[in-house]
Amino acid sequence: MKIATSKNLFRRSRRVMPGGVNSPVRAFRSVGGHPLFITRARGATVTDADGNTYLDYVASWGPMILGHAHPAVVKAIQRAASRGTSYGAPTEQELKLATMLCAALPSMEQVRLVSSGTEAVMSAIRVARGFTKRDAILKFEGCYHGHADSLLVKAGSGAATLGLPDSPGVPRAAAGHTLTAPFNDIDAVRRLIRTHWRKLACVIVEPIAGNMGVVAPRHAFLRHLRALTRQHGILLIFDEVISGFRVAYGGAQTVYGIRPDLTCLGKIIGGGLPVGAYGGAREIMELVAPAGPVYQAGTLSGNPLAVTAGIETLKRLKAPGVYDCLERRGAQLAEGLAQAARRANVPFYQTRVGSLLGGFFTDGPVVDYASAKRSDTTRYAKFFHGMLQRGSYFAPSQFEAAFVSTAHTAAEIDRTVRAAREACKRL
Ligand SMILES: *Cc1c(COP(=O)(O)O)cnc(C)c1O
Repeated sequence: MKIATSKNLFRRSRRVMPGGVNSPVRAFRSVGGHPLFITRARGATVTDADGNTYLDYVASWGPMILGHAHPAVVKAIQRAASRGTSYGAPTEQELKLATMLCAALPSMEQVRLVSSGTEAVMSAIRVARGFTKRDAILKFEGCYHGHADSLLVKAGSGAATLGLPDSPGVPRAAAGHTLTAPFNDIDAVRRLIRTHWRKLACVIVEPIAGNMGVVAPRHAFLRHLRALTRQHGILLIFDEVISGFRVAYGGAQTVYGIRPDLTCLGKIIGGGLPVGAYGGAREIMELVAPAGPVYQAGTLSGNPLAVTAGIETLKRLKAPGVYDCLERRGAQLAEGLAQAARRANVPFYQTRVGSLLGGFFTDGPVVDYASAKRSDTTRYAKFFHGMLQRGSYFAPSQFEAAFVSTAHTAAEIDRTVRAAREACKRL
């Protein structure tokens, strides 16, 4: 594996960008080594600056559910670009994407498009505070909701690996409005709500946690959250930035049959371009400016290229059999990885919902952040590099998900499973 070009580019990048990257986890800090600079991607693969091609399970951290450079998506973006890249005025494309989102999610009557998941969550929380006239929020340890001040408290993902859950620069006052509970622990939530409900605007949760590795909700956890919040006039926000259109066309809320008050989306709905969205009941969303007094705006919101990529992606996801295929491919990879670890006598706990996968180097079970952190991250780093050398690119952190796309063939996944057998033997 040649790496000289990536190495050189990284050295130069570190001079002009903090840590050499524009988002922390890309820097490979938690697995060691240096990041690969990607020059192109197609289908299930990415190719780096030294000409190495890898089967990709990072999927740009979730968006690339159709694989990279899907011809129909690329063509639609090209056509849209030739008509101009941004107008700062309404377009019919925005109407189309908004209509598709509201049709997909039963809880979504109105939606506002923004430019990132962070922006979507930040704005949804502002709306929840405006609606309830309360200030506090409750989030779960290890859940990541973007990098807004009040949410960088016991956050997962890059923040989990780097050990910066309470980042410097976040005012104590902002963090002071944030309560946290362990994921999947409904008794802890009940206790917190009993004491603090009068000041709680919302409970925000990743219905399937995807930023401490992948942790599925326990049976009835979400249902109890729904009942408790409703009882106390607290809004329930589902952060489906990862799970939306990933685990089902209608997201985790369709899988578990829960109707949140507000939902945040991102990643897949932009088809690989920068997008986010938040929406919910009309009664709540009508509070957003200019319909109501809660201010939120964006120069590039509803950007024509991003919206076009989103529409084309969703259109393809709607075709019959797509999620069955994702389920089969996800199961094939999950079972293959678990078997590889078992054969090598390596403690390993596999989690999965459809094409969203997590794997922890621990006996498990992994049900929350505390149990996720029991994973042997040194072993993960070894596994990661072993897989990379054998042509499979997983996330450079234990606490990120693995994603399978519709472009991954059974034969490609089999190649990854065979690589895992070899890699696990050396753990
Ligand atoms: C990625 C992610 C975000 C943040 O989205 P950005 O587009 O990176 O700002 C928020 N919530 C969840 C659950 C995410 O996975």
